[in-house]
Amino acid sequence: MIRLEVLAIGRLERDAGGKTVNADSTCTMIRTDNGIIVVDPSTNYMRPMIKKSLVQAGVSFGDVSAVILTHTHSDHIQNLGLFLKAAIYVHEGEDISVEGAIIIKEEDFQLVPGVRLVHTPGHTRGSMSVFVEADRRYVIAGDAIPMENNFRKMVPPAINCDAEEALQSIKKIKRYADVIIPGHGFPFMARM
Ligand SMILES: [Zn+2]
Repeated sequence: MIRLEVLAIGRLERDAGGKTVNADSTCTMIRTDNGIIVVDPSTNYMRPMIKKSLVQAGVSFGDVSAVILTHTHSDHIQNLGLFLKAAIYVHEGEDISVEGAIIIKEEDFQLVPGVRLVHTPGHTRGSMSVFVEADRRYVIAGDAIPMENNFRKMVPPAINCDAEEALQSIKKIKRYADVIIPGHGFPFMARM
């Protein structure tokens, strides 16, 4: 059985001029029969929240067997070093290299049954989303969908390497998802 738990809800706050003032990714845990996976370990600011959530879930950092980075922006990866026993997964399209990471080259890679890493470029060239078949179809989108509004209004992420590609990635996610966990903020229903 596969179960998702959001460990910390990340912020994305901008000032009146649209400049980002606070950014922390949402951090999600996936429990599977084949190990515990964490997606986007987020920032130092979120570390106490993540620790608390793990304690409540009865999971220690060393229990986590895989960490998936949807991409390598710093607001998604700062707690990576806490997961000492985890294999790290990054897509080959990313410009920043992560020491010791396993590089995903596929467009669609099954990590374990029910959990797929799907290339959803546009925010960065190597952005991937995690497609999870659990009680519903979940997509942990990273910044392919930074905020719910990007999905509702079909607006590509403000930071992007290719806006049209980013829009195609949002559509790819929309075709699969019942529930979307965006890069920042709360999960939301994709179908209403
Ligand atoms: Zn990002």
